[in-house]
Amino acid sequence: MKDIALEFIKIIEEEGYKAYIVGGFVRDYLMGIESKDIDITTSATPKELKNIFQDVKFEKLNDKDNYGSVRVDYKNIIFEVTTFREELCYLDNRHPSSIRYVTDLTTDLKRRDFTINAICMDKDGKIIDPLNGEEDLKKKLIKTINKSDKSFSDDALRILRAIRFSATLGFNLSNDIKESIKKHKELLKNISYERKKIELDKIFTSIKAKDGIELIKELDLANVLDLENLDRIKDYTDLIGIWSMIDSSCYKFTKHEKELIKKVNIVYNLNNLDDLVLYKYGLYVNTLAGINKGLTKREITERYDKLAIKAKSDIAIDAKDICKVLRKEPDSFLNEIYNDLETEILKGELLNKKEDILNYIERKYQKVI
Ligand code: ATP
Ligand code: MG
Repeated sequence: MKDIALEFIKIIEEEGYKAYIVGGFVRDYLMGIESKDIDITTSATPKELKNIFQDVKFEKLNDKDNYGSVRVDYKNIIFEVTTFREELCYLDNRHPSSIRYVTDLTTDLKRRDFTINAICMDKDGKIIDPLNGEEDLKKKLIKTINKSDKSFSDDALRILRAIRFSATLGFNLSNDIKESIKKHKELLKNISYERKKIELDKIFTSIKAKDGIELIKELDLANVLDLENLDRIKDYTDLIGIWSMIDSSCYKFTKHEKELIKKVNIVYNLNNLDDLVLYKYGLYVNTLAGINKGLTKREITERYDKLAIKAKSDIAIDAKDICKVLRKEPDSFLNEIYNDLETEILKGELLNKKEDILNYIERKYQKVI
């Protein structure tokens, strides 16, 4: 990936512009972590980049959350390319009112959030670090480039980014940052739930999700972020499990996620796990609910594995057998019988054996249906 990235910036440089890898890729590279995308900062403008590369997606300047950055697909890697810029006066604690292209790398680096995100790599793979980000990287410290009060009030999303980097990298926030976050926390209300959720998802799926959540509590952000019930979380290994415990109506989820969250809460609120619940809601939902209730994954899995049946298809007879014993054509009565069989078998009242089941059906349904 690094070789392709260096090749990419060489192409821009050959056209007479300056270009550097910056941000997450360099930070992660220095820490030996693999990155998914690559951010490039360059003196070339979006228009000029369009003349250099074929597959360029031009994002509109001042589109929400996007200030003229360009996405270039080069050798199957997505490059997020921005032009050296400074950001002028901020609006709504998130977006600059306008940007101005500049010719100097350091000016561009100074508008970024944290020192560890302002380290660059040039076309020869040499590290360029005028703001001493590498020093903070070694100290495992997240430090704002500008005064933290200004940095967070300019763009309150940086509050969540700080917690995200602390959780994903296992870094500490400087005391100064912590104080500033507490001071400016209300500004998080001005950030869209959609944007906040992107950062929260990254925190919740990080290896240090528990630390990230503890940090949210320590900095007293739960309320302002509408994250109720953080104390219900006992399992930090599953994103849906975490959101289920939070159970907030402010954040958006897909239909499938909503259904899962609802099911986890139903099971969580039941007094005990019985075989019918294990069967009806399945292993995944029961594991999420169970661990958050204090059960172990092993306990839940062992109980699930011991279920007499795990699906309708495990029942030792099929629809044909039922129709034959009742001398009936298939019809809606089959559903009723299947539901009954599931319950009886799971309750342990009926053995899952063909003979026993056929006898049971004959006895119970011969006259009724
Ligand atoms: P990731 O690993 O998630 O890609 P990243 O640090 O690369 O982390 P990006 O969102 O890709 O984060 O942004 C790229 C770079 O742009 C950052 O490293 C940082 O220098 C700068 N940046 C991004 N968002 C902000 C922001 N809200 N305020 C200031 N600088 C930002
Ligand atoms: Mg990035």
